[in-house]
Amino acid sequence: MFTFVFQRVIFNIVNFSKTKSLYRDGMSPVVKSTSRPKWQRLPTKNVYYYRCPDHRRNYVMSFAFCFDREDDVYQFAYCYPYTYTRLQHYLDSLERRNLDYLQREQLGLSVQQRRLDLLTITSPAQQNPEKVKKLVVLTARVHPGESPASFICQGVIDFLVSQHPVAQTLRDHVIFKIVPMLNPDGVYLGNYRCSLMGFDLNRHWQEPSPWAHPTLHAVKQLIVQLSQDPKVGLEFYIDVHAHSTMMNGFMYGNVFEEEERVQRQAVFPRLLCHNAPDFSFSNTSFNRDVVKAGTGRRFLGGLLDDTSYCYTLEVSFYSYMAAGSTSPVPYTEDTYMKLGRNVARTFLDYYRHNNFIDDKPQIPNHINSMEVLSQGRQGNGNWNGRTSGGERGAERKNQSIIGEY
Ligand SMILES: [Zn+2]
Repeated sequence: MFTFVFQRVIFNIVNFSKTKSLYRDGMSPVVKSTSRPKWQRLPTKNVYYYRCPDHRRNYVMSFAFCFDREDDVYQFAYCYPYTYTRLQHYLDSLERRNLDYLQREQLGLSVQQRRLDLLTITSPAQQNPEKVKKLVVLTARVHPGESPASFICQGVIDFLVSQHPVAQTLRDHVIFKIVPMLNPDGVYLGNYRCSLMGFDLNRHWQEPSPWAHPTLHAVKQLIVQLSQDPKVGLEFYIDVHAHSTMMNGFMYGNVFEEEERVQRQAVFPRLLCHNAPDFSFSNTSFNRDVVKAGTGRRFLGGLLDDTSYCYTLEVSFYSYMAAGSTSPVPYTEDTYMKLGRNVARTFLDYYRHNNFIDDKPQIPNHINSMEVLSQGRQGNGNWNGRTSGGERGAERKNQSIIGEY
């Protein structure tokens, strides 16, 4: 599109189907340009979300933008992108470090022959041969448009491969199996929810087809095989998503008859709530809706035994409410990654809580203390000369849970 300097353009993005949207709470698209390559959120006040009779009464999101530099190329996105290529570069850089506690393998290929990567992170030496190592499985990007899930996943990986004493202790006792991108074709093609062939893969866990859903088929086979392996104790399956109507990070879990199991399932989200200022236990919920029957969390919850926990970890596409603050804090790439790091270190609290890990590593106080998220707003005064605000953040608490995943 040819523009001249200071030309103002109104973009109309049509065919949104949801009445509820974080656009109504102050979310805005992100933008970058050649001379300002860091993605930033547009000013909230330039964004409108409304029902439109010209588009079958579906919703339209409109935003005004002023092109301020003649030679720049501008790009816009729904949220901070995290592409298949970026993941491949990241995994290549991890591999080059030759860490003896990190293994990368190709678990399978997508329909369009893209890599389905699997990382295994654990100490190679068995500390205590009598003790069966615990196993944590984490997957992300089954819904390709939910790019915040990739930042969280990278935050988890970065922490687990680090020299942080908590990470070292975790590697000694736990095996982490991570599939960072469950739907690589969908991510590559820019799909929001579906695979290349138009499937919502998170509704096909019950019977994934090796030709129509090859990546899901491969991951399910892996998890089933691990669940039957007496040499490891599969305890957690966490599938990471992003949510288009809720704020904060939160979890979905399963419903059980036995109160004791319900309480056990609540332990991890409670500990995470303590560790991550953007994670909300009150938004966390446990359900068994019929429409969720084909999701990873629901299906594997029925498959694994009663000492295993399956969660969906959700994070807002937009913002979180920090304790004591009155306006939402927009997430940045870095704060999404911090949530990932906080998820990773919560496993140590969990395994100490359960007395599985009893050796206390010598962790200096300043490291052991709670990692506090930066409360600062991302400065975006460069865009149209305005700063973003949370003016529209009136309705932000106690939103009803509408199944996004
Ligand atoms: Zn999702």
